[in-house]
Amino acid sequence: LPPGEREEGWALLCCATPLCDLEIQSSLVQDPRMLPDLVPEERSSEVAGVEHLGGDLWRLRLELDRLLEFYAGQYVQLGVPGTEDDWRAYSISSPPSRQPVAEFVAKRIEGGRFSGQIDRLEAGTPMRVRGPYGIGYLRAGDDPVLLVAGGSGIAPILSILEHAAESGDRREFRFFFGARIPEEVVLAAEIDAIGRRLPGLEFLPAVEHPGDSGWEGDTGRVTKAIQRHLHDASPYDVYLCGNPPMCDSASLLLEAKGVREGRIFFDRFFAAV
Ligand SMILES: Cc1cc2nc3c(=O)[nH]c(=O)nc-3n(C[C@H](O)[C@H](O)[C@H](O)COP(=O)(O)OP(=O)(O)OC[C@H]3O[C@@H](n4cnc5c(N)ncnc54)[C@H](O)[C@@H]3O)c2cc1C
Repeated sequence: LPPGEREEGWALLCCATPLCDLEIQSSLVQDPRMLPDLVPEERSSEVAGVEHLGGDLWRLRLELDRLLEFYAGQYVQLGVPGTEDDWRAYSISSPPSRQPVAEFVAKRIEGGRFSGQIDRLEAGTPMRVRGPYGIGYLRAGDDPVLLVAGGSGIAPILSILEHAAESGDRREFRFFFGARIPEEVVLAAEIDAIGRRLPGLEFLPAVEHPGDSGWEGDTGRVTKAIQRHLHDASPYDVYLCGNPPMCDSASLLLEAKGVREGRIFFDRFFAAV
């Protein structure tokens, strides 16, 4: 949370610990397609593997001691190894059916307490998992689906697409993905593989800094690609995932393109500190 907003009295409840009983009033409009809340639980897990995907993106694979009920697109809190009570939010990138394995796509932040050590995590390292949380999961329906993600925001979208493919979802899925550099589009092969089982899937990656890589796809920010390829957002259910500025600018653009009220679903990737 920027210091200015903190001074104005704003707080991120997802990162806050209540010190006494609270009464909370929500101004959220109830979405009739929300699924029943799942009560967060804690699980033990072990690191099953870590893989460098490209650029700053890493895949973390955990093996859970017991199954965790979650909806594709939700996130959990992972205990920072070596700490008692320091947690970081990460979206599960694998579908629920892949358990006991749960996968994550993490952006490595130099000096980050959790992600800064991801390249050194050894197989067998214990890790606490707490969740699930979040409302950015796929709603049922017949309307086409628009997915917009930047960088590690691809994590919940992968879970959603895998789950949709497994359940034989017949909707149209248009996926706009923004990467900083071409190496971060490395998951394209996995998305193509999902597309063979999800016939309605169209993948539209855009690269902000193509350099001299020979990248032939869209360039610039993901919003530029949306501006170019999407003329009317009114038919779509929209799922956004990534850092708050990306989510905000994509929301504004999609509103200008006619997306209906209550049709944008997301969990913003706030920094924990
Ligand atoms: C609901 C939710 C889901 C999330 N899912 C994912 C996910 O699937 N993959 C993922 O990579 N991240 C995800 N995040 C973001 C992740 O939780 C934060 O980036 C977290 O702070 C990283 O912890 P860290 O210990 O590595 O860095 P910290 O020690 O928390 O931060 C170190 C420094 O880096 C800054 N910082 C933190 N995050 C970022 C960032 N993303 N970009 C630039 N600077 C940053 C901090 O302000 C701080 O100065 C999610 C966040 C939320 C709220």
